[in-house]
Amino acid sequence: MRVGWGYDAHPWTESRPLVLCGLSIPGHAGLEGHSDGDAACHALVDALLGAAAAGDIGRWFPPDDPRWRDASSLGMLRQVAGWLAGSGWRIENVDLTLIASEPPLAPWREGFVQSLAAALGVDATRVSVKAASGNGLGFAGEGRGLAAVAVALLEPPPEATAAAGSLPPVPGPR
Ligand code: MG
Repeated sequence: MRVGWGYDAHPWTESRPLVLCGLSIPGHAGLEGHSDGDAACHALVDALLGAAAAGDIGRWFPPDDPRWRDASSLGMLRQVAGWLAGSGWRIENVDLTLIASEPPLAPWREGFVQSLAAALGVDATRVSVKAASGNGLGFAGEGRGLAAVAVALLEPPPEATAAAGSLPPVPGPR
């Protein structure tokens, strides 16, 4: 098995709607970013790519590429999951923690799980989403933005098990 870890953080902005795990959350400022600012999906993409030693989100979806302006980050996650599945990788489980003092995220947790599971093409029992307030500490706890940390456990294709050097090359985004 291969484990990967991902982290992302974005500041709040009033100029964009809030999108987390691909869901639109009304009544709160959004997250600044070149794409839709969905830091949850960004952290998860990096965890998946890290487990496969297949680069990072900036390599797959460069922030200076106009194709990804306002792009759906859930779509990026779906694209990475599709590449993994097509390359023989299997997602054992993913675990995501969102850190923000506001808005309350616990009511959205089941929706987050369903949205991510659909994008990843796995059963919802393999997806965990947790929310933490940050207890007033750090930029996220102080209400200046949202942080997301993720881990992913992947079962590699047989050839990757035999030798790490045989991992497939990283394709560019479609
Ligand atoms: Mg990001």
